[in-house]
Amino acid sequence: MPYGYHGKILIADLTARQLVIDEPDAAFYRTYMGGANFGMHYILKHLPRGADPLGPENVLTIMLSVITGVPFSGQSRMTANAKSPLTGAIGDSQAGGFFPAELKNSGFDGLVFLGKAERPVYLWIKDGAPELRDASELWGLGAWDTETRIREELGDDKIEVTCCGQAGENLARMAAIINMRNRAFGRTGLGAVMGSKNLKAIAVRGSQRPAVADAKMVKSVASLGATELKTNRGMEELRDLGTAATVMAQEFAGGLPTRNYTSGTFEDAEAISGERLAETILVDRNTCYACVVRCKREVETDDKYQVKRELGGPEYETLATFGSYCAVKDLNAVAKANALCNDYGLDTISAGATIAWAMECFEDGILPLDDTDGLTLRFGDADAMLQALEALAFRRGNLGALLAEGSARAAAKIGRGSEDRLITVKGSEAPAHMPQVKRSMGLIYAVNPFGADHQSSEHDTSYEENSGDRSLGWLAELGLTKPVPATDLGAEKSSSH
Ligand code: SF4
Repeated sequence: MPYGYHGKILIADLTARQLVIDEPDAAFYRTYMGGANFGMHYILKHLPRGADPLGPENVLTIMLSVITGVPFSGQSRMTANAKSPLTGAIGDSQAGGFFPAELKNSGFDGLVFLGKAERPVYLWIKDGAPELRDASELWGLGAWDTETRIREELGDDKIEVTCCGQAGENLARMAAIINMRNRAFGRTGLGAVMGSKNLKAIAVRGSQRPAVADAKMVKSVASLGATELKTNRGMEELRDLGTAATVMAQEFAGGLPTRNYTSGTFEDAEAISGERLAETILVDRNTCYACVVRCKREVETDDKYQVKRELGGPEYETLATFGSYCAVKDLNAVAKANALCNDYGLDTISAGATIAWAMECFEDGILPLDDTDGLTLRFGDADAMLQALEALAFRRGNLGALLAEGSARAAAKIGRGSEDRLITVKGSEAPAHMPQVKRSMGLIYAVNPFGADHQSSEHDTSYEENSGDRSLGWLAELGLTKPVPATDLGAEKSSSH
């Protein structure tokens, strides 16, 4: 077996309540390497053609990589895949936190879920021993309570839990899978797949660290993070302001999506910026396994929104989708939307963007009060935004039933020109990077198999002369002979993707 892996993948057939340990050979590990490639292998093997993404025949995988669990800054990641209820194509999402390393230590390199449990269950793995347990008492709970209850039930507060919230149970098509109460497999609706399988949660604990080939080398690479943090401007900014630092950079570039992408500048950008967040509601920073950067925000508000730090603070994408997309300038309300998404288990990008789409439709007279259950859903109205979010998570009323389908399906249902207000690719809402100012991002949005995604390629700003953290040598590796502006989409940059 190659170093870094256990050589074991757990296949949980929820219909049959059967747990089988697959032990692929070294060729499997060397061919597929890790992450989504592992997932695709099992999905292609078990998923029938034409399967309903929310039916029992869908296949959900959570896979690790060879260095998951090795103490390198920024590397505690895992990948989830399934047929997406949002796009109907393959779904793909990554998450960090401490769960990935703990899953590796529990003795497995990945998990495959088949079928549908008759009643709610959760998977518990302790040091290589998996077990399906009753989750009836957990059904209906948010991510915070689910994690708390499982730790209490199993008597160990170091157990790591990943779960779906109420949005996944209610099959909202942009539902997320949450770990640590605030880390998300956000995109492509995989929380709804979990809910459709009656799989409430996965809990892991273990001490089975796989062997590494060169312990000395691991030690030396592990210390790089701390050294880099002192000299790397990008990492320093990430530590101080988190990804929220991007708000003002995007505003200055004219690429901060505003009022459902109808503008690239937001007159109140400063009010939702990373700097403002740090000055006002930031109470601490958090991290993922072995990462020295500690970029994750913890925020608290003591106003009517009552945001608790355990549910995390908003990233750049969330500040945009619930801020500028909806023209909401109240940072505390945006932080509340973020906390609700983490607890209910929702992708903040698709949820915020779907509400922004509905706001534009309402403003233009396309979405009448009958469809919104009487809610006046105007741009800039923070309370209306939060009410729409609650309706979406619980599929409450006409508005909730409509928004929980995602904007593309909602537009197909109501018509009346609402299709012209969509900002989606393959049915997935676009993240907060406008192709107008990041030209090749538009190309990636268009061709990416799981829809508009900002993590599937380098950002155009990385190719610029003044990008700061990129050398010409790095550009040459991509086939670029010189730096190129973010708005360039010439042959050289296109062919480098
Ligand atoms: S703390 Fe931030 S930089 Fe470090 S691994 Fe987590 S998300 Fe990445």
